[in-house]
Amino acid sequence: MKALCWNGINDLKVERVPDPYILNEGDAVVRLTMSSVCGSDLHLLDGYVPTMKAGDIIGHEFMGEVIEVGPGVKKLKRGDRVVVGSVLGCGSCEFCQSDQWSLCDNSNPNPEILEKAYGYAGAGIFGYSHAFGGYAGSHAEYIRVPYADHGAFKVPEGVKDEAAVFTSDAFPTGYMAADMCGIERGDTVVVWGAGGVGQMAMQSAYLLGAERVIAIDRYGDRLAKAKQYAKAEVLNYEEVDILEALKEMTGGRGPDRCIDAVGMEAHTTGMEQYYDKAKQTLRLQTDRPAVLRQAIMACRKGGTVSIVGVYGGLLDKFPMGAAMNKALTLRMGQMFAQKYIPKLLERVAAGEVDPSYMLTHKWTLDQGPEGYRMFKEKTDNCMRVVFTPSQ
Ligand code: NAD
Ligand code: ZN
Repeated sequence: MKALCWNGINDLKVERVPDPYILNEGDAVVRLTMSSVCGSDLHLLDGYVPTMKAGDIIGHEFMGEVIEVGPGVKKLKRGDRVVVGSVLGCGSCEFCQSDQWSLCDNSNPNPEILEKAYGYAGAGIFGYSHAFGGYAGSHAEYIRVPYADHGAFKVPEGVKDEAAVFTSDAFPTGYMAADMCGIERGDTVVVWGAGGVGQMAMQSAYLLGAERVIAIDRYGDRLAKAKQYAKAEVLNYEEVDILEALKEMTGGRGPDRCIDAVGMEAHTTGMEQYYDKAKQTLRLQTDRPAVLRQAIMACRKGGTVSIVGVYGGLLDKFPMGAAMNKALTLRMGQMFAQKYIPKLLERVAAGEVDPSYMLTHKWTLDQGPEGYRMFKEKTDNCMRVVFTPSQ
């Protein structure tokens, strides 16, 4: 089959690779109809997630048609139209049983790498390096889906592919970001990053009771979409001082809940950008925490900072004193896909949210390298490129 493979930093190629097949009794093989780019892939492209190997198939936000199931699969059959969560969960360990699916004890066959780096290893993630299990990703014609009864969800009739595909990753991630905030009626929620994850966090904040949502980014088209579809007030961090603006917009008190939907490759202005870039290049810090610093400083006393932007390692100049002395709650994590996907599919089916506006480019798999270049450089108002491998 054809697949989009990582070959090194900023080096993607469409290659011929062997077809996947049923390996364990709980596996399904899915023919991919849609597979989206995600901000997490950029960390792979830019070389910030170690343990990638040349030839790895990337991609983890996807949907398709079940073409084969293993003998242990009970809920799915050939022909089902399914969306699959990006995170793999066995369904039976204590973490899966308590709905903390990205912490699964069994779905990562290479736990020793993360045990060294983090103390304990979490779940495997499709197409996301060998430290996270070495699973083949979804930018391909077919994919093997282990633990299929737990990770693949039938798409309700009436929900179009263009909306369903984002219930795989961007929507559950954004929803979890808002859920972790502990939003109370009347709250003001600020979201850093108006990409796919940020857009879904904004809409989810309203679903969970926020009164006001403020979006921060520097791309006009993304801020315009945040305004139009997510009813957000918008701030461009290249044009205003974010801390001052947020203080003023909240009557000097600060926003109640702050969401980081940017992560380790945050861009910022002035000296801070040079400082973070230099330290990251020299490996004196692995991640650039500009957004995290701002969120902690901006948040009101006793508020919550919720982090779904991905971090990999160590940070410099982290304002721990501010977080501690303002009694902030910090929450974070890779998302618990299986916990949220069924509920979100229902919300999409009911017409409460339509994520399909995030699909700005529908391209063939052969256009993969070009699609990623555009997504990375945010040109042509690109929010998400979705590849259609089997059309
Ligand atoms: P994206 O690249 O489309 O969007 C990121 C946005 O952040 C861009 O629009 C960029 O301009 C903006 N940004 C950069 N610096 C900023 C700053 N200082 N202030 C405000 N905005 C800034 O990516 P995405 O797909 O939306 O993903 C966002 C993050 O979420 C990534 O780190 C990704 O890895 C992470 N993610 C996490 C999970 C999870 O399970 N926790 C799942 C999916 C994605
Ligand atoms: Zn598990």
